[in-house]
Amino acid sequence: MASVLIALGGNVGDVRATFAKAIAHVCGMAQAALIARSADYATPPWGDEEQAPFVNACVEIETDLDPHALLFVLQKVEQKFGRTRNKERRWGPRTLDLDMIAYDDISLQKPDLTLPHPRLFERAFVLVPLAEIAPDRVILGMRVRDGLSSVSTQGIERLPDTG
Ligand code: ADP
Ligand code: MG
Repeated sequence: MASVLIALGGNVGDVRATFAKAIAHVCGMAQAALIARSADYATPPWGDEEQAPFVNACVEIETDLDPHALLFVLQKVEQKFGRTRNKERRWGPRTLDLDMIAYDDISLQKPDLTLPHPRLFERAFVLVPLAEIAPDRVILGMRVRDGLSSVSTQGIERLPDTG
């Protein structure tokens, strides 16, 4: 089984409800076990700042799917929840974004899949939830908690549990 860290994001619709359903779909389609799930966080929009705030979270799953098969599952689940990639602008509003942050210690540079995710350590909105579930994981030679301590987390707020 591989241990995979996945970052979730969205800012259109009931994002927290979408996350709950999306995680269940990913685990079902990837025959994966959910090992850990962070809280949800409200985060300032990034890249394109003229849009609604985002909700972000991270999960760890264990799966036997290889990285490309898992990417296919993530894209299917994004589509199921209304994401239409060709109508979006880059870093613009979206119902659901599912990014593979790390897949075991695999390094991969393919046109459609880079592992670990190359922009991980620029993104407080990924590092905050990731540090909650995998603070001691070393990715690209950097411990997640150390990566978090070198970015600004201004404006990021942990959301209360929905129960
Ligand atoms: P972003 O996540 O940067 O906001 P998108 O979700 O639109 O942008 O992803 C763009 C492309 O990134 C996808 O078509 C996918 O093939 C590619 N990609 C490369 N590496 C990864 C990764 N580690 N996880 C998810 N998608 C990835
Ligand atoms: Mg993405």
